Amino acid sequence: MKITEIIRERKQPFPSLEIVPPQGGVSQTELLAAIRPFMAFHPPFINVTSHRDEVEFRPQPDGSFSRHVVRRRVSETAVCAAIQAAFPVEVVPHLICAGADADRIESRLHDFKFLGISNILALRGDSLVGEKRFVPEPGGYAHAAELVAAIRRFDVSGDFCIGVAGYPEKHFEAPNLEQDIAYLKRKVDAGADYVITQMFFDNAVFYRFRDKCRAAGIDVPLIPGLKPLSSLRQTRLLPEAFSIDIPPALVAAMERCGADAQACYAAGIAWCSDQCADLLAHGVPAVHFYTMGRPDNVVEILKRHFG
Ligand code: FAD
Repeated sequence: MKITEIIRERKQPFPSLEIVPPQGGVSQTELLAAIRPFMAFHPPFINVTSHRDEVEFRPQPDGSFSRHVVRRRVSETAVCAAIQAAFPVEVVPHLICAGADADRIESRLHDFKFLGISNILALRGDSLVGEKRFVPEPGGYAHAAELVAAIRRFDVSGDFCIGVAGYPEKHFEAPNLEQDIAYLKRKVDAGADYVITQMFFDNAVFYRFRDKCRAAGIDVPLIPGLKPLSSLRQTRLLPEAFSIDIPPALVAAMERCGADAQACYAAGIAWCSDQCADLLAHGVPAVHFYTMGRPDNVVEILKRHFG
């Protein structure tokens, strides 16, 4: 079932989840055991992230270096196949432009069709470490809007529901929020059906983004993305990794817990739970949780709001 149909049919807002494929060596049984605790809350869909191949240069005996393309994680397609065979849930593989040309992307779309997958999150992906700007693969796509258009051309029968990413605090490369939203509109005009946002820790930022999107003519569902902080360290790491702000009150709450890891964990849950309650009161269609491989804190929040 398409995400847009789920949103139309459900009378109440619902939770959805994002998981990261495990490193090679983890078994299907282990992966499914990690997801099982979420299933008590009946999330209608689970997103599975996609990761570009890494390139390694290995020294050779003659002093030269040989280039190796390394894939450390299980593919999103394999993870989606395992999840949808085990649980009554829609899977949403992420599809990225980074590191793939149009032919490789088309072969992924064939896999998704073969598996009966109806939903895709279309993304550009990030630059390689050391690259200043994103460089598309020769014969690939420079922006997610081009990828959305390519999926629509491939999918003549209209089987796929396409989601795209939105950034309440703007994408780090965009000159300003208005321009970023103008580019988001291009993704919707190219055929995207809904938007999932980057994580944020201040709901006012999401409401401002939602208002600006509506004013710009973006009328598809906007699904907010949340992540509970799980350690004091994350107050530094997440802004670096995702170009987002952590509000002073949250940083202060985490600092008050100091070296008490349990207390930090609980403070992260409390903040995220308050965010979730407020979003539900403000009429969001769903709340999307970034699980980052740790189910306990998200499960605790799901118990409070979707139990
Ligand atoms: P785009 O929409 O292409 O935008 C990228 C930048 O280009 C923005 O600054 C935008 O303003 C600008 N731009 C857009 N169109 C144009 C244009 N025509 N001309 C000039 N500038 C333009 N990354 C992964 O590698 N794997 C994942 O699984 C993954 N999942 C994600 C899930 C979510 C919900 C989110 C929010 C992000 C995810 N990311 C993932 C990260 C994402 O790939 C990066 O943030 C990436 O840098 C941008 O991707 P995008 O699809 O938003 O790109």
